[in-house]
Amino acid sequence: MARYLGSVCRQCRREGLKLFLKGDRCFTDKCAIEKRAYPPGQHGTSFRQKQSEYGTQLREKQKVKRIYGMLEKQFRRLVGEAARRKGPTGENLLLLLEKRLDNVVYRMGFASSRAEARQVVRHGHIRLNGKKADIPSMQVRLNDEISVREKSRKHPHIVAAIEAARRKGTMSWVEVDSNKFTGKVMGDPKREDLTLPIQEQLIVEHYSR
Ligand code: SF4
Repeated sequence: MARYLGSVCRQCRREGLKLFLKGDRCFTDKCAIEKRAYPPGQHGTSFRQKQSEYGTQLREKQKVKRIYGMLEKQFRRLVGEAARRKGPTGENLLLLLEKRLDNVVYRMGFASSRAEARQVVRHGHIRLNGKKADIPSMQVRLNDEISVREKSRKHPHIVAAIEAARRKGTMSWVEVDSNKFTGKVMGDPKREDLTLPIQEQLIVEHYSR
């Protein structure tokens, strides 16, 4: 599958916001946006025109795609799925994004970023209800149990991520026993759990054009 191979910090600078794409580095003064808080490229520091309505919607969509590390086709499919469900499409979309297996692995602290979580899943380090689960886009359900497979419990990245998560804490909708390398989905994430500034309605409007 195609994926973005460029600088991830560039993506934050483009959105003018810390998207926390690089794990622990994002919390240090090495964060690129702390040093260069302007868009990347030759004209990054020069005057920019006011954004059109379309531009604002597009930027919001790009921002969320980048946070969750998704490509356009997958993201569009998820927006369609969100629209088919009951309730507000924007909130449904965020719920679907949060309940992707790679995101849940990240939220449980078994990886330090979503990109790392995707790799951890793809490389077969994760078990879902005791069975191998190596598809990052899988949706997890209530009471699903996610664990790090026995052989991978000394993996340095996983150990470091768990240590960091112990310090930072995890989300209220997951319960983690880091000593046993397991976590359980206790409910649905609430809108207020998402602390990054996201205006999901703009994304829905973008795709309704
Ligand atoms: Fe974004 Fe993290 Fe890079 Fe900072 S260090 S610019 S938050 S990816």
